[in-house]
Amino acid sequence: MGLIPYENEKYQDWSDARAQEKMRGALSTVGEALGRSYPLIIGGKRVETDAEIASLDPSEPSRVVGRVGRATEREADMALETATQAFGSWSRTAPEARARIMLRAAGIMRRRKFELLAWEVYEGGKPWSEADAQVAEAIDFLEYYAREMLRLKDGVPIYSIPGEESRYFYQPMGAGVIIAPWNFPTAILTGMASAALVAGNTVVMKPSEFTPITGAIVAEIFEEAGVPDGVMNYLPGYGSEVGDYLVSDARTRFISFTGSMRTGLRINELAARQVKNQRWIKRVIAEMGGKDAMIIDDSADLDSAAADIVKSAYGYSGQKCSAASRAILHADVYDEVLNMVVERARALKIGAPAGAEGGADVNVGPVISEPQFEKVSGYIDVGKEEGERVLGEDPGDPKNGYFVPPTIYAGVEPGAKIAQEEIFGPVLSVIRACDFDDALKIANDNPYGLTGGVYSKNREHLERARHEFKAGNVYFNRGITGALVGVQPFGGLGLSGTDSKAGGPDYLPLHMLARTVVERF
Ligand code: NAP
Repeated sequence: MGLIPYENEKYQDWSDARAQEKMRGALSTVGEALGRSYPLIIGGKRVETDAEIASLDPSEPSRVVGRVGRATEREADMALETATQAFGSWSRTAPEARARIMLRAAGIMRRRKFELLAWEVYEGGKPWSEADAQVAEAIDFLEYYAREMLRLKDGVPIYSIPGEESRYFYQPMGAGVIIAPWNFPTAILTGMASAALVAGNTVVMKPSEFTPITGAIVAEIFEEAGVPDGVMNYLPGYGSEVGDYLVSDARTRFISFTGSMRTGLRINELAARQVKNQRWIKRVIAEMGGKDAMIIDDSADLDSAAADIVKSAYGYSGQKCSAASRAILHADVYDEVLNMVVERARALKIGAPAGAEGGADVNVGPVISEPQFEKVSGYIDVGKEEGERVLGEDPGDPKNGYFVPPTIYAGVEPGAKIAQEEIFGPVLSVIRACDFDDALKIANDNPYGLTGGVYSKNREHLERARHEFKAGNVYFNRGITGALVGVQPFGGLGLSGTDSKAGGPDYLPLHMLARTVVERF
C-alpha cells in the first residue's frame, strides 16, 4: 500500500480565534445532543437492556451526558458468542483490507474531531487542550497500527539452514475483551481495540462506566469505517457485573485491559485459571497505575523543571497514569523549586471546560466522578498528617461539580501513604533528597514503575537514571506525560503493568500468535 510516512496528528492552536469558534460551535451542537440513549451493539444490531447507566458531566453532575445500556451476563454471553463466530472470516480478511478500515476510521475521526473533543469535554470534564491531545492520540493509534500490520503481515526475517526454508509469521488469536478506563476514553479504547482488530481478532469492547458515551461514538466510528458486524461489539456495563464473566469465559482468547492495579491483578488472576472447554492460556495485556516521580538535581534548569512539574502534575487534574505525583528535590534546590512550583500551580485556572466561564484557557477541570472526588478528598485529609499543605484547600460541595483544587504537600517522607499510593488527582507530594543517589532510591522505592523524569545537566546522573530509574518511560529534562504514539512507546514496569508498550513496535505482536514453519526441500 502506498501510504505517506507516519506522522503524529497535529494539535489545535487554541490561540487561533477560529479554533476557539469551532470548539464553541461543537460544544453547542453536542450540547443539544446530550441526554440520548445508546444501546449495546452486538453483531451490528442495537440491543436494548432492562437497565441503563447514566453518564454525568463531572463539572455539573445534574447534567446527563447520555444513557447507555447496562449489560448483564446474558448480553456478555451474546457478545462473546458473536465475536467468536465472526473470528473465522475476519481472521482470513487480508491484512491490507483490515489496515484500510483503520485508516478510514482515522479519517472519520479527523472529520469529526471537534465533535469528539466536545464529547470529551462534557463527559470527561477535560480541558480543551487535553481533549485535543487525546483525540489526536486516538488518530495516531489507528494510523500507526495500520502501518504496523503492513510491516508485519508477511512475518519477520529469520535464518534458514541449507536445504530448508524457515518462515516466521503471525496469525490472529481469536475473540478478545477490551476493557478501558475513563481517563483517555477515546484514545485508549481506540488504541486497544484497533490493535486487536487490525491484527485480525474480533473484540468485545467494554468502556468505563464513567465514559460510555465516548465509547459509543468510538464504536459508531468503527462501524462507519467498515468493521464488519460482529467483529467489533460494544458492551457498556459495570465491570463489577460483567467483568469477571468476560474474563473467565472459555471463549475469551485474550484480555486487553487498561485501568487500576487492583482490577488488573484481578483480571490476571482470573484469566490464569483454566475453565471447562478452555483450550489455551489466555493472554493478558494489562496496563495499570503509577506513582510517578520527577527528580530535580542541583544542576538542573530550575525554572523549566518547575514548569514541567506543574504541567505533569496537574494536566487533566492529575488523572493520568503518567502524572507526576512525587517531586523529589535535591536539598540544595528544594526551597527554590518548591516556591516556583507553588507559584505556577497557584496561577492555574480552574473551571468547567464546557461552562460559560470555560474556554481554551481552563487548565484544571473537575475530577471524573463522585467516588473519585471522595477518594482524592480522603487523600487530601491523609496528607494533612503527612506533610505541610503549601497549596490547596479542602474541596467544596461535589454537587457543584467534582472540583479539587491543585494541592501540594511539602516535606513528605518517602514512605508516607500520599507518597506511595496512587491518588489519581491534583495532589503533589514534595520530597527532599540529600543527593542524587538518595533521590533515585526514593523514586524507585515504590511498587509501581510507569513514568519518571530527571531534570539534570549532570551527564553521569542522566546515564545512571537511563538504566536504573525503575520506570517503563523515563524522560530527561522535560515533562513526563503525553507519550506520543510511535515516538514514545508507552507501558509500565513493576505493578504498573505488563510493559506492553502501546504505540510501539512490540505492541501488535502481543495480539497475534507467532508461527514457525519449516520446509525441507
Ligand atoms: P478501573 O477502576 O480499574 O477500571 C478500568 C476498567 O475495568 C473499567 O472499564 C471498569 O469498569 C473495568 N472493571 C472494573 N472491575 C472489573 C472486573 N472485575 N473485571 C473486569 N473489568 C473490570 O480503573 P479506572 O478508574 O477506570 O482508571 C484509572 C486507572 O487506570 C488508574 O489506576 C490509572 O493509572 C490507570 N491507567 C493506566 C494507564 C496505562 O497506560 N498504564 C492508562 C490510563 C489509566 P467500570 O468502569 O464499570 O468499573
